[in-house]
Amino acid sequence: PLSTADLIEEHRICVCVRKRPLNKKELAIKDLDVITIPSKDVVMVHEPKQKVDLTRFLENQTFRFDYAFDDTSNNEMVYRFTAGPLVETIFEGGMATCFAYGQTGSGKTHTMGGDFSGKNQDCSKGIYALAARDVFLMLKKPKYRKFDLQVYATFFEIYSGKVFDLLNGKMKLKVLEDGKQQVNVVVINITSGKTSANAHSSRSHAVFQIILRRNEKMHGKFSLVDLAGNERGADTSSADRQTRLEGAEINKSLLALKECIRALGRNQAHCPFRASKLTQVLRDSFIGENSRTCMIATISPGMTCCENTLNTLRYEEEVS
Ligand code: ADP
Ligand code: MG
Repeated sequence: PLSTADLIEEHRICVCVRKRPLNKKELAIKDLDVITIPSKDVVMVHEPKQKVDLTRFLENQTFRFDYAFDDTSNNEMVYRFTAGPLVETIFEGGMATCFAYGQTGSGKTHTMGGDFSGKNQDCSKGIYALAARDVFLMLKKPKYRKFDLQVYATFFEIYSGKVFDLLNGKMKLKVLEDGKQQVNVVVINITSGKTSANAHSSRSHAVFQIILRRNEKMHGKFSLVDLAGNERGADTSSADRQTRLEGAEINKSLLALKECIRALGRNQAHCPFRASKLTQVLRDSFIGENSRTCMIATISPGMTCCENTLNTLRYEEEVS
């Protein structure tokens, strides 16, 4: 029989997939839907239902995750099963992380940051705002009110192994570790304002953190991460050196992330967090006894994207 400790470990990691609808551009080129979510935890990749001359055969593949959200789901629903339950973790003194992983254009920023274009029926708030909302609701609960907690937020991006503040005009930041192995991100200098706030967006990891402090000490931390696009195949042969370096850095960090989450899920002592800036920044979230993670893989439904979609699904399978 399972012990309480087994149960806690079992639920340390939650791996989900979210399919978005075909967009205007895909509809215009008559791209076809090759993804079906037949039940709440299964994703199927298959040939399009319409009869078409396929340039190649697409083998049916089935994947199982903790949750699979179809293209009718909204941010609030996705949040409720992923990051939502982790708000309590940080109030209980734990560390929580939530990642959006997937190809550029698959819906990571829509899920995490929300969509304020007014183009979508989906509710505009993303997981950053929904988590912040629940943190402030939780603060009012008598149980936590007596903790006298203070709330801090950071928002920064990791680009080519460097950290840039996104709240205060792109200041360059440094990652410090204190004696208790807690990670602090601090300002070291102010860089010229040449790069706009989202100049690197698809090629950088954006990290939004909600930090709870109690008596000047860290109580809990929630890191919400909009990861760089995982479609890096073409970069390795790019003529542009910068593009190749960026691609290699992204591959390295996503690989290190997978290993760190696996280590957390299996309660292994060794976690290769030194392998990338991303995992270094999140180090204290991978090692604590009360650390929990959820990963939302966002996928495009179109046949033209299926190679990247399959790569995303395989990565998620390896994480869980
Ligand atoms: P990414 O951050 O992964 O590159 P985005 O979040 O920017 O992708 O999404 C690309 C486009 O698709 C945006 O216009 C976004 O509004 C739209 N989109 C993404 N996910 C959804 C969804 N679940 N429902 C409706 N539109 C979506
Ligand atoms: Mg994005």
